[in-house]
Amino acid sequence: MPVLCSSCVDKRAVLKRPKTGHSLCKECFFWAFEEEVHQTILTAKLFKHGETVGIAASGGKDSTVLAHVMKLLNERYDYGLELMLLSVDEGITGYRDDSLETVKRNQQQYELPLKIVSYEELYGWTMDAIVQQVGLKNNCTFCGVFRRQALDRGAVMLRVDKICTGHNADDVAETVLMNVLRGDIARLRRCTAISTASEGDGVVPRCKPLKYAYEKEIVLYAYFKKLDYFSTECIYSPNAYRGYARTFLKDLESVRPSSIMDVIHSGENLSVREGVRMPVQGTCNRCGYISSQALCKSCVLLEGLNRGLPKLGIGKHHRLHDKILSQTPLTEKEERKLRPVDF
Ligand code: SF4
Ligand code: ZN
Repeated sequence: MPVLCSSCVDKRAVLKRPKTGHSLCKECFFWAFEEEVHQTILTAKLFKHGETVGIAASGGKDSTVLAHVMKLLNERYDYGLELMLLSVDEGITGYRDDSLETVKRNQQQYELPLKIVSYEELYGWTMDAIVQQVGLKNNCTFCGVFRRQALDRGAVMLRVDKICTGHNADDVAETVLMNVLRGDIARLRRCTAISTASEGDGVVPRCKPLKYAYEKEIVLYAYFKKLDYFSTECIYSPNAYRGYARTFLKDLESVRPSSIMDVIHSGENLSVREGVRMPVQGTCNRCGYISSQALCKSCVLLEGLNRGLPKLGIGKHHRLHDKILSQTPLTEKEERKLRPVDF
C-alpha cells in the first residue's frame, strides 16, 4: 500500500524528510522547506523592507535553491526586497566558466540582475595561474580569502545593503568542528552567527537564510523542483581538512540525524572565558579592507604571488608586514623560507 503524506494525508508520500523523518508528498515538502526558511528570516530579522540584497550565486545547488526561495518568499510574503545575483569568477577553466553559464541561465529564469566580479580583474591573477605557482596544497586558502573580498567589492559596486550566501546547516556544522579542531576561538565564535554586522567601509553585512536547512533537503528540493544547477566539484578541490570534517559529520548523521543541528547548537552556545585574547579588528594599511594585522590577508597573499614567494601569506609571518609596507627588501634567509619548495 502506498504511504500517504503525513501532512495532507491525501497525496502519496514521495520522500522521507531527512530532518524530521516525516513522509511527505512533494507539495507538502516544498511548503515545509520554504516555511522554515521564512521562519529563519523572520526570527533572525535578516532583512528590512526596501533593502537591496545581493545573492551570492555560484550556480551550485545551495545558491540556486537560495535564489529560488528568496525570490519566491519575497513575492509570497512581500518582503519588499530588491534582489540581485552576485557571482565571483575565480578563473578556473572547466569549472567556474561552466558553472557561470548556469548562473547566467538562472538570471534569465529568475529575471534578476547579475554582476560577475573576477579574480583576474580584481587581483590580476586567475586561480589557474595561482595553482600553477603554488600547486594544489594551499590553493583553497588563496581562493577563500580572495572570494570573501571579491564578494564585498562586487557588493559595493552593486550598492547592495546586504549579501546573502547559500551556507547550509551542514556547512555551518562542519565549520564549527573545524574551528574546534584547530582551536581557532575567534572564528569559532563568529562562525555560527546567522548574520554579520557591517564591519567597516567596504565590508557589507552578510547573512545565511539556509543556515538551518540540511544539505540533503536542499538536494531534494532542487531535484523535485527541477532547478537548473551545476553539480561538478572544483577541479582544484583538495580541501582535505574540510573533507575530513565533512566525512566525520556524515558518519555521525547516519547514526543520529540530529547531529548536524546538535553541533550547530553547541557552537552557538559556547562562550569564551573572560580574558582570552581576541584579534583586534583594524584596517589594512594598503587597501583599507578590515584586518587585524598591518596588512590584510588578501594583500599579503597577493604580495607573495607577485614576488614569487607564495608562502608569505601561509602561516604566521606578521613581523614581515611592516617590511613589505615600507618596501624594505627581505633578507636572503627570509626569502629562502618563503620560496615554493615543498609548498
Ligand atoms: Fe576555490 Fe578551493 Fe573552492 Fe576550488 S575548492 S573553488 S580552489 S576554494
Ligand atoms: Zn589589504
